[in-house]
Amino acid sequence: MQTSWFAGPPAVGAARLAQKSQKAFQPERLRRMNGRERVLALLEGRPVDRLPLMPITMMFAADLIGVKYGQYVTDYRLLVEGQMRTAERFDADLVSAISDPAREAADLGAKVRFFEDQPPAFVESEALLADKSKLSRLKVPDPASTPRMLDRIRAVALFKEKMAGQRIIEGWIEGPCAYAANLRGINTLMLDFYDDPAFVNELLTFVTELGIAFARAQRDAGAELMGVGDAVSSLVGRAIFEEIIAPYHLKFVEALRSMGLKTRSHICGNTTKICKARASLGYDIIDIDSPVSLEHARAEMGPETIILGNIPTVKVMEQGTPEEVRAAAAACHRACGAKHMISAGCEVPRKTPHANMDALREYAYSLAVTGNEAPASGAH
Ligand SMILES: [Zn+2]
Repeated sequence: MQTSWFAGPPAVGAARLAQKSQKAFQPERLRRMNGRERVLALLEGRPVDRLPLMPITMMFAADLIGVKYGQYVTDYRLLVEGQMRTAERFDADLVSAISDPAREAADLGAKVRFFEDQPPAFVESEALLADKSKLSRLKVPDPASTPRMLDRIRAVALFKEKMAGQRIIEGWIEGPCAYAANLRGINTLMLDFYDDPAFVNELLTFVTELGIAFARAQRDAGAELMGVGDAVSSLVGRAIFEEIIAPYHLKFVEALRSMGLKTRSHICGNTTKICKARASLGYDIIDIDSPVSLEHARAEMGPETIILGNIPTVKVMEQGTPEEVRAAAAACHRACGAKHMISAGCEVPRKTPHANMDALREYAYSLAVTGNEAPASGAH
């Protein structure tokens, strides 16, 4: 809840907090930060006024401004408007260019179906690299010369023009395993891991170059944080993730960091068995989806990893009450401690009641009063 002392002079707030808490007074906590300052402060180990609120919204944002999702993913001006209005309405600390996993692959020539009001989808039966020999003829294009990647680059540039410095601007690329699956077909790729490791490595090398080029173009346009979505990694099993996929994530992280980007790893689904490996990759933020216990994630990832998530998207965000949303946010915070970002485990479903997004916002603001202390069990 946004409390009245935000409106008053800082000294009043300081006095009230000092009365409430026996802890040493930290003036940095009381100055209200904007979203960009808040995210960067947490990432750089500085005090924050409250934990960042970082929900992934896509179809929810399109619905909020009354446009079909098919328009949202093909017209950057609508994506930017949807993100900005969502962030303003619910005080999210980011705006994001995330939309669908098919931008890069479509620009390479993969067959993608578009829908009026749903995300684009790959035609799995007609994968671009159904014939492996085609890989040697694929080239990484200049992202600015392609339609779908350019649309995202323009979204990032428009975010920068409209609101640089206010909220963190997040670009988005796919992770190595996702790219490989998008080009080859997920089922075929699963067989390739066993049948043709040399081809898999060649493919992962190519997509790493692709992802880095797309990230650089978004960084040049104004992105400060780069999300790397690699949902397929939750399906390949621990051994394949650690031995085959992780080395390419390390290359991604090294390249993104050298560009000055902050990094975020998003792998939805059940990543229980790869928590430890994920923590070793060097991403600044690690998203944990709701099938994973946050207590387990924290134990595996150590105290310093910034964990984002993992309020259940459907059961709580879409179908729960505001009270249940606040309770779930508090439970995530308790499990993660101070190195935490408030969010659902994955995309906020489009039918999520606005009252439930308000509840997330209220939870975030309540922390500005309590000094970001996680509430005791049962209280929130
Ligand atoms: Zn996800």
